[in-house]
Amino acid sequence: MTTTLPLQIATTLRKSPDVLIACHVAPDGDCIGASLALARATSRLGVRAVVGSADGVPEAFLDLPGADQIVSTPPVQAFATAVAMECSTIERSGVFADALKRAGTLINIDHHLSNAGYGHVVYWDKGAAAVGEMVTEIIRALGTPIDAGIAQCLLAAIVTDTGVFRFTNVTPHTLRLAAELVEAGGSIHRLVERVYETRSPGGLRLLGMALAAVRLSADGRVAWTTVTPEMLAASGARPEDTTGIVGMLRQIRGVKVALMFESTADGIRASIRSRDGARSNVIAETLGGGGHQAAAGFTLAGSMSDVVGKTLLEVEKELRAQ
Ligand code: AMP
Ligand code: MN
Repeated sequence: MTTTLPLQIATTLRKSPDVLIACHVAPDGDCIGASLALARATSRLGVRAVVGSADGVPEAFLDLPGADQIVSTPPVQAFATAVAMECSTIERSGVFADALKRAGTLINIDHHLSNAGYGHVVYWDKGAAAVGEMVTEIIRALGTPIDAGIAQCLLAAIVTDTGVFRFTNVTPHTLRLAAELVEAGGSIHRLVERVYETRSPGGLRLLGMALAAVRLSADGRVAWTTVTPEMLAASGARPEDTTGIVGMLRQIRGVKVALMFESTADGIRASIRSRDGARSNVIAETLGGGGHQAAAGFTLAGSMSDVVGKTLLEVEKELRAQ
């Protein structure tokens, strides 16, 4: 981990009249939480901070401070500074890509295993459990006190990207930081209630349908399911209600790679989860996406059956490479 980059970024932000912080499409708690924390900290210093998320904010994170001000279309003005928050490529920010390119200084913050290395400043730490950890370093370098609001945003990042401290990315640093954030007024309980213990009736029905449709292949080492528009309509669920389904498929004894395929306007979106050394990121990168070793994804044009077929071939290749 580097200490000079957070300082360099803090210096740039301090001098900047404004900053645009853009999340990746289909944003998760890490991306939203880290972006809101950075926006709140820079605002305290008089910087006009705008957080952008092409796909809005999942309901579970709407109570985070500042979430109600997140914009889903880019402001027309050019920003002095822009931050791409865990976007492996600029295009991962969706409609914000042009605004990021037009900024005077573009800062690329990421912890995924693949990142295109774009931007004027690249702060890329593959060892960070969450970009929330990296943003904490920047906030410390800014010298802004971590108030209860910032603490809750950073906890949202860390708690969700570690699956509530269950994944292999958890380090002693992660746990110490979480303790500090709780001391600063953050609540893990409140987050867990909203993110993991709350589903809409439609979301629960969709979970049941997707689990009932699970299929196994490669001698039980691969589990996969699909979510179609028909299933969304029949269950009354929203697209974001698919969160967590793929992780449940991985629970099946003997499964090394779990996949969920969902139809979206852009094509078939696949979520991959793996264990025992199977590399989700390698599978995703072959198919144009990216992510972490145990969690990755991609979006591919084509019919559901084509994309499933193509993907299962790549999964089997990865299992053979083990
Ligand atoms: P998800 O299955 O959507 O929860 O994504 C799992 C992980 O893979 C997250 O860290 C995502 O940011 C990453 N990811 C998903 N889709 C893509 C993609 N098309 N390109 C790069 N990374 C992705
Ligand atoms: Mn993350």
